[in-house]
Formats: sequence, C-alpha cells, structure tokens
Amino acid sequence: MEEIWYLFKDHKLLLCHASKMRLPTSRDVECLADKIVSKGVIAIGDAGRDENPRQYWAEMSPEASIPEGMVALGLRDVGSILGEEAFYAAARAFQLMNWVGRYRFCMSCGDTLEPSSVDNSKICPTCGSVFYPPVSPAVIVAVEREGKILLARNASFPPKRYSVIAGFVEPGESFEDAVRREVREEVSIEVKDIKYFGSQPWPFPHSIMVGFTAKWASGELKPDGREILDAGWFSPDEMPDLPPGVSIARKLIDNFRRSRGVEF
Ligand SMILES: [Zn+2]
Repeated sequence: MEEIWYLFKDHKLLLCHASKMRLPTSRDVECLADKIVSKGVIAIGDAGRDENPRQYWAEMSPEASIPEGMVALGLRDVGSILGEEAFYAAARAFQLMNWVGRYRFCMSCGDTLEPSSVDNSKICPTCGSVFYPPVSPAVIVAVEREGKILLARNASFPPKRYSVIAGFVEPGESFEDAVRREVREEVSIEVKDIKYFGSQPWPFPHSIMVGFTAKWASGELKPDGREILDAGWFSPDEMPDLPPGVSIARKLIDNFRRSRGVEF
C-alpha cells in the first residue's frame, strides 16, 4: 500500500492533477523535501503509531510555489471531489498540522512545549502540564414546525445562502442546553423534542459539529440582526441556496426533505 500525504500550503490541500485529482504519494512528495517546513504522522491517540505509518501531513513553505502537476483545494471542497472519508482524513491532518506548528508554549508557565512520544499531546518540561490538540464542540440543529424547516441566513454566509442554526457549546452546558440557547439567542423561539442526529469533524479551525433535530415549541421568529440577518420556515420542496452536500448542515436538511417524501 502506498503512503499518502496530506500536503498543505496556505491552508489549502495540494492534490495531484492529471486525468483525475488524487492525493499525493511519497513518490510525488520526495522532490519537495526542501520546501516542506513541518511534517508528521497522522494518528488519533495511539492508533497508527505503528512501525509503518501510511498517512502523513506536511506543510509547505508559504514562499514556495504550487508544484507542477498539483492544484490547491480549499478544505471545504475536498468532500465533493474526493469523498467524505478523505474530507475527514484531511480535517484530521489539518488540525494536527496546526497543533504541531502553532501551539508551541505552555499556557501555565510559558515554556516551550515538547511532543509526547505516546500520543498527540504536548508536555511542558518545566511545570509538567499536558496539553491535547483542541477540539471545540458546536451544536447544529434542524428545527421543524408543521412540516416546515427553520433556515436562517448567517451574516458570514455567501449571498442568498441559508442553513440550519449552529453555535459553540459554552462551558458547563449540555449539548441540549446549547441547542435551546442558540436557537433562543439567534431567532427568539423555544424548541422541544431535541434528538441526536449525528456528528462531524469540522476543521475550521478545530470544531466538531454535533447535530440534532428538534420541534418548535413556542415563539415567533425574530433574527438577532447581528449573527442572523434573516430566518424563515421553508417547505421541503421550496429550498433556498443550501450548504454543500458533505456538511452535516446539508445532511440535516436532506434528512428533513426525505422524511417529507421529497425526491431529489
Ligand atoms: Zn509549563
């Protein structure tokens, strides 16, 4: 089996581009050694730390040009081109790369951290504090009311794009608490019947999206005007511009449409 490289430059993933796009192998990366500023093995916990690792991440110098025969792809587009599994692996590679390259000092005493030999943690040689790669949970929820789904326009979205409500979990909150609070803060309604749907790593920069479905309980939509510019209840056959297929947001919306018998 060939070794696969998740090679990044300026936060974009580099793919070999011949008849079709594919991830680079060791053979493709060999000649780029002098342009690579950091690299490592892709592993979660102890897994993959065997003698013959098969997957690596690497970061190219920002000054280097994109190698001939390669193209740079935004992480958000990886799923639609290489599939969902490659998107998750690229997400893992990207987060490990950032962890190794950008989290260098102890948050307690400021000394330079050293990598652990057993997992992805880093240890402070002075005070002994141990740090792990950050993962920030966020909730995302599809709220239904009388056969319609709540979709909102976030101020950061591309023009005309609508999606389900999402937001970061606060310290001390359960996921369900976070769902209720986010919906209340962003569009002023109350929800009930909160049910787990699924989760998805979201490397922008180090989230995990935890998805739920819920039902409207009370209140009328009133966008907060800061984060949410517009919100409405949408029928399954009258959808606005939606997020791409690989996102859990889209899966929640597609799940709602299928549950209402819409073929697409
Ligand atoms: Zn320290």
